[in-house]
Amino acid sequence: MIRCPECSTEIDVDEDEVEEGEILSCPECESELEVSQTHPVHLNLISDDLDEEDDEEDDEEDEEDEEEDEEEEDEEDDKDEE
Ligand SMILES: [Zn+2]
Repeated sequence: MIRCPECSTEIDVDEDEVEEGEILSCPECESELEVSQTHPVHLNLISDDLDEEDDEEDDEEDEEDEEEDEEEEDEEDDKDEE
């Protein structure tokens, strides 16, 4: 039996009826759950404000973008002050 990672409600999922990447909704807390694995089925909680999980590659890309933006802003500030 699969349990919702958010509220631990039991979710009736037949591993022969779901595919990897399929999105399910928890009937109890209405969280969106992505099927990350079948045989056995494993569900990942999908949440807007969760930046943990295992998306380390995406985080590194975001950090690089932020650094570039900061440099541009600093240059503009110096010009305005002097
Ligand atoms: Zn739930």
